[in-house]
Amino acid sequence: GAEELTETDPTAMALGYKKDTTKVDKTKYPQHTPAQKCSGCALYTGKPGDKQGPCTAFANKIVKADGWCMAYAKKP
Ligand code: SF4
Repeated sequence: GAEELTETDPTAMALGYKKDTTKVDKTKYPQHTPAQKCSGCALYTGKPGDKQGPCTAFANKIVKADGWCMAYAKKP
């Protein structure tokens, strides 16, 4: 199976990835809101309702549905 993205992964750190969108650093990422989650991101390819799924921004590593990073782009 695909590898889970950790918060300490260098690419994850570069994009400010957190497994919990409510834990995102507000001072570093003022554009973030807690309503923004991986499950609502265009780069997330997990199934609706699943707790995690692949993210194309991280070579399809597994991210949390409730996670977030600065590459967030709202699903159209
Ligand atoms: Fe989550 Fe989107 Fe960032 Fe991937 S690009 S980690 S789906 S917010």
